[in-house]
Amino acid sequence: MTLVSIARMTHTSLSLEKSWEFSSDKSKMLEFRLGVFVTGVVWGTGFAIFSPELNDTYTLLFLFTLAGMSAGAFSSMASDRFTYLLYILPMLIPAISISASQGNLLSLVMTIMLILFTLMLTVSHKLAAKTFADGFEYRFEHEDLVKELVKKNDDLNSLNHELEKTQKELSRISLSDELTQIPNRRHFMRVLQLEIKRARREHTPLSAVMIDVDYFKRFNDTYGHLVGDQCLRMIATVLRETLQRSGDFLARYGGEEFVALLPNTNQDSALIVAERMRMAIFDADIEHRECALGRVTISAGIASCSAVNGCKNWHTLIELADRSLYHSKSKGRNRVSAHDQNAVVIPLTPGHTSLD
Ligand code: GH3
Ligand code: MG
Ligand code: MG
Repeated sequence: MTLVSIARMTHTSLSLEKSWEFSSDKSKMLEFRLGVFVTGVVWGTGFAIFSPELNDTYTLLFLFTLAGMSAGAFSSMASDRFTYLLYILPMLIPAISISASQGNLLSLVMTIMLILFTLMLTVSHKLAAKTFADGFEYRFEHEDLVKELVKKNDDLNSLNHELEKTQKELSRISLSDELTQIPNRRHFMRVLQLEIKRARREHTPLSAVMIDVDYFKRFNDTYGHLVGDQCLRMIATVLRETLQRSGDFLARYGGEEFVALLPNTNQDSALIVAERMRMAIFDADIEHRECALGRVTISAGIASCSAVNGCKNWHTLIELADRSLYHSKSKGRNRVSAHDQNAVVIPLTPGHTSLD
């Protein structure tokens, strides 16, 4: 009995280690049933062998043990009625028949009780097995639902991710200039309004630089529109490279006009940046036959609002930068001008080349 019990315990725990549910594995199930049946037979035979040697008290004790084991296995084998019967019948039938063969009153009472007990276990096990099966079914149904929900959730997440990507791409497209791939005028307007607010709030200066390519119509007429496009792309790249601070912002304002926004930059510093831009384009040495200098140049106009006076509004800043640009144009192009409060000034920067 001890050996059989140990063998069965080892087998069950080994099987459970591999998989919690081994009822789907036919050979494992067969081994399990065989173990259960052998246990039942060993206990039933044990009773048949030992009960003739035992007095009434020990016989009763043995019978109670068998009854207890049968009842105890009720829940652990609730899922499978056939296995349960394989266990209790070889255990209880020898006990019933031996008890019936004794012929005294106590044995008769015991026999009747054992038969009733066996019948009760057999019948009520049917109900237990059904409840158990229903429970499992609900569990699996529930698990399926949960799996489906998790899958749906994953699908939704990836859809959201796609949407986010598309939205980003859309906003990138709507805010950047198709030709030069730098921010467009719409993007500039947004940034300008934010920067004006920030400058007011933090009492910092803000400068805008309007840039226009000189004699660009002639450039197009000479080299064609496609080369003109290429030239604009190159100008955008060169201008962007001249901006060093992270907050500096360059956009294509339209046509052959660019604009740079320089936060926390006063007019003197803006002049240095604008002059650097002019020089960079000059040094890029893009051929322009129809221009006196033989190369592409730009003119720039600066407007700044100081930390002291603050920025009134974006119209004023752009208007003043435009006026400064006009001034650079009228003074001969390839130059930088600034608007200081009400006076338009022409800076005398080194390397300044006049076309006058
Ligand atoms: P100014 O020195 O006074 O600025 O003279 P300009 O010829 O540059 O100025 P104007 O306004 O007379 O001409 C601007 C030219 O810029 C005309 C237009 O064909 C050209 N242009 C504007 N946008 C584009 C573009 O996207 N690609 C090309 N290739 N040319 C453009
Ligand atoms: Mg222009
Ligand atoms: Mg121009």
